[in-house]
Amino acid sequence: MLRIALTGGIASGKTTIAKLFQTLDAPVIDTDAIAREIVAPGQPLLSELFRVFGADLRRADGSLDRATLRQRVFSEPELRRRLEAITHPAIDAVMQQQMAALPEGTPYVLLVIPLLLEAGWQDRVDRVLLVDCPETLQVQRLITRDGIDADTAWRMVRSQASRESRRQAADDVIANDGSLDLAELGERVRRLDRRYRSTGS
Ligand code: ATP
Repeated sequence: MLRIALTGGIASGKTTIAKLFQTLDAPVIDTDAIAREIVAPGQPLLSELFRVFGADLRRADGSLDRATLRQRVFSEPELRRRLEAITHPAIDAVMQQQMAALPEGTPYVLLVIPLLLEAGWQDRVDRVLLVDCPETLQVQRLITRDGIDADTAWRMVRSQASRESRRQAADDVIANDGSLDLAELGERVRRLDRRYRSTGS
């Protein structure tokens, strides 16, 4: 089974592209969703996070205050590394379990891994599919979708791997820079899906 990483910067359009693959019945495993599941109330990792990063991150309903945790590690590389050392192995384990549970003969799986480069996970996949988008457009989309100010949006974009380093790591690129409408993006995805199915089967 061919393992394709779908990656791209924040608000580049990864979810949009993953949904287009899903309309073609491609199996999609989303590491962002896994990252949320492993810290849901009752999960052992959650109490570890409270212990390491502070019990004040526990909201009244017992869930994790993700926004405050994000802010806390944002400008503290050492804290961020500690968080990743706790969460990444758990995310990886669930990702492997979900891959192993796919039906026999599945030609390929799309693994949505936003922080592929930052986590150094290129060796876990066979190909890298990049959703490429200019930083100015990422910022615009963040402002519109999340209602944040331009300064915050730029800081979020700049804290990630550079557009250039992502392009260097990519085997395939989908330009989601506003030049293609949704129908054209769908056609691009159909072509890739056909290629991945024939390579993987
Ligand atoms: P995140 O990194 O935050 O998870 P993402 O990479 O999954 O984001 P999306 O949520 O797919 O990105 O897209 C970001 C925003 O931009 C969304 O509001 C989405 O609807 C919009 N968007 C993405 N691609 C397009 C497009 N081709 N045309 C119009 N709007 C788009």
